[in-house]
Parts: sequence; C-alpha cells; structure tokens
Amino acid sequence: MDVLVIGAGVGGLAVARGLLAAGHRVRVYEQAPAPRVSGKAVLIWSNGTAVLNDLGVGLDGVGTRIDRIDALTADGRLRTSMDIAHAAGRYGFPTKAIPRRHLQERLADGLPDGLVRYGMSCQSVTQDEGRVTATFGDGTTATGDLLIGADGHHSAVRRQLWGDGVVQPATFGTWQGLSPIDIDITDTHRHIMITGREGACGLFPAGDGMLQWWFDVRWSPTEPRPTSPLAELRRRFGHWGSPVPEVLAGASEDDLDFFGHHWNKVRRMWGEGRITLLGDAAHTMPPTLGQGANQTLEDAWVLGRELARDGDDPAVRLRAYEKARYPHISLVSRLARRNPANWRIPPMLGRLLPETTQTAMLARFSNRLNAPAARSL
Ligand SMILES: Cc1cc2nc3c(=O)[nH]c(=O)nc-3n(C[C@H](O)[C@H](O)[C@H](O)COP(=O)(O)OP(=O)(O)OC[C@H]3O[C@@H](n4cnc5c(N)ncnc54)[C@H](O)[C@@H]3O)c2cc1C
Repeated sequence: MDVLVIGAGVGGLAVARGLLAAGHRVRVYEQAPAPRVSGKAVLIWSNGTAVLNDLGVGLDGVGTRIDRIDALTADGRLRTSMDIAHAAGRYGFPTKAIPRRHLQERLADGLPDGLVRYGMSCQSVTQDEGRVTATFGDGTTATGDLLIGADGHHSAVRRQLWGDGVVQPATFGTWQGLSPIDIDITDTHRHIMITGREGACGLFPAGDGMLQWWFDVRWSPTEPRPTSPLAELRRRFGHWGSPVPEVLAGASEDDLDFFGHHWNKVRRMWGEGRITLLGDAAHTMPPTLGQGANQTLEDAWVLGRELARDGDDPAVRLRAYEKARYPHISLVSRLARRNPANWRIPPMLGRLLPETTQTAMLARFSNRLNAPAARSL
C-alpha cells in the first residue's frame, strides 16, 4: 500500500520504519524545515526499547541506562526506592535516558533519502472510498491509500477528524533543562524524583556528563510567564534539600524550556475510513509517567503489525489497531493526568515497605504499562 504519514517526530519515523519493513511505500511530511537537532532528554522504558529493538533501531552509545528511581521528600529524606533494573531484567530490555536529538537521529538512521519531506505543513485531509489526499501549506497535495496523522499534540489531522477543543490544559507545566551539571547522580544510573508543597523536581543522568533536570509547577494557560524563570525557580525551590540548590546554582536561563501540559480523553476510535492517528495526536498526556513517547512507539509497532497482514479492507485494519490500543492507552493516559506533586507516599510508609515489596509493586505496575509490547516481543 501507499501510505502517507504526517509528522516526522518519534511516532512518524517509527511507523515509517515498520511499514517500509512490511513492504509498503511510505512518504512522510514534516512541517519543520529540517530534521530536529534540539530537545531535552526522554526516558525510554523497557516497552520503548523493546519496540526500538524490533524496528532495528540501536541505542548503543547514546544516553545512559537507568537502574533505579528514588523518591525523596523536599528536605532530602528517602520516601521509596525502586529497582528499575529488576523490571528491565524481566523484559530483557533496559530503561534508557536519551537526548531527544539522538533518539530522532537513530530513528532516521538508514531510512531512504528523500523519504521525509521537510517544510510541508499539512492543512487538511480528504478521502473517498479508495484514496486519501493531504493538502499542504504551499498548496501542493499528496494522495495515497492510507494516511496516518502522527503530527503531535496540536495535530491538524485530529482537528479535522475530531474538531476543536478536544485537548484541554492540564493543571501543571514543566520547566526543563539538559545541562553539564556535575552532581553526585550525573555519572550514575540513578533517577531521583523529589516532591513537596511547591511542586516536583526530577533529575536523571542523560549520558556524556549531562544532567536532565525539571521542575513541575502549577500552571494555567492564562498565567503570565515569569520574566526571569530561573530566579523564580530558585525562589520557589532553592530551600529544598541537596542536590536541588546545587542544580539551580549550575543551571542557566539558556538551558530552560517551558512546557504547559495538556490532556485529552482517549477515544475508542481515533480515525475514519482510511485515516488514523498515532502518538500524541491521539493521546496527548502530561509526562508524569514518562510514557508519551513509549506509548507512541507501541502505537507504531501495533499499527505496523496490523498493516503487515494481508487480507481485510485497510480501513478495517486501522480500526483493529485503534481497538487494540484503546484499553492500554486509556489506562496510561488516566494515570498520567495527575500531578506527580500529589503522589506522596508518607516517608514512614516508604520505610515500612521493604525495597523488595516496592520493587514487586513497581514490577506489577510496570507489567501493566509494558504488557502489550512485553507479551509479543
Ligand atoms: C517536558 C516533556 C517531557 C517528556 N518526557 C518524556 C519522557 O521522559 N518519556 C516519554 O516517553 N515521553 C516524554 N514526553 C512525551 C513525548 O515527548 C511525546 O509523547 C512524544 O514526542 C510524542 O511523539 P509524536 O511523534 O506523537 O509527536 P511529536 O514528537 O510531537 O512529533 C510530531 C511531529 O509532527 C510535526 N507536525 C505537527 N503538525 C504538523 C503538520 N500540520 N504537518 C506536518 N507536520 C506536522 C511536528 O513538527 C513534529 O515533528 C515528554 C513531553 C514533554 C513535553
């Protein structure tokens, strides 16, 4: 089949790889003028690394492995400690922290030249019984057998299918940086999450001496941005226990990006006829669980499998993909909606539960998150 993919983010590139491997003709249209070379780091969990492995995407030499997650109180006391390496051992695939630029490069590695057409902003899509057509900002069109809207959280394809106002602001946003800050955890495989009244802070090593750090704060789209965000973060979080003051001292305004988070209720059906959605276009969620890109990779993998089968009408296969993804993604999305600053196990309870129990709980939870990929790969 001749497949049009809108968007060359994580989902668009991943699904293109799977479809090419299954023998389809693929064209990817990306609104940005060139491949992405910026962005902070993302956590790719066992489910994501399993899918990447199956798509032939190697992660050797990029980012770093994460083996444990420690949750701390604002004054630095340990609440809980989770052994991620244990969960990874169970599935055979590690959890890695990877700068987004490297993830995009690895996903694009080996794709045929000219497969991704840059500077092509999709404005609308139309279909009849046999074909689907995308129209771009420059007035040109492309026609194929199927169209996949992998165009992210502001998706033009979704807007056309679902209308406006479907994606709503969540109650919080993230100030995030990726910087060469040399603290204890920068050269380890340890991720720490700190929560307190003022919000949440996360820190993990991202390889090559880089530290990924972020602060979650309450947010609404009508709120003005602070004139000096770093000064505001220092005012709000500077009194927290070590290593927060060291991170804030080592950060610079140039490192900072802000993301106000959004969420949509996941629908049972995402597309119509020969059009479907994939990734954030179908399920925008805050990065609370670090699962957005991982679930996008699972979408790409399930859709690739569905379209590799001979037989049914292609529209039937697109609906089968949406049906297969719905139960899992709606669970992950509902869990991710909550602000992590509200996820507080009292330190006392954390100490009473042995690490083995916490690890078992994490393994069970992670098993639910990773189930579709883990069962089949
Ligand atoms: C602060 C933050 C931290 C995160 N951390 C993690 C994490 O640790 N782990 C994790 O799994 N996820 C994380 N996520 C979520 C993750 O980034 C997304 O879920 C993931 O990028 C979704 O991939 P996608 O391909 O659907 O969309 P995107 O990666 O957004 O790609 C969409 C692409 O479509 C293009 N596009 C948009 N509109 C058009 C158009 N009209 N025409 C053509 N092209 C178009 C865009 O330019 C873009 O290249 C985080 C998100 C945020 C905001």
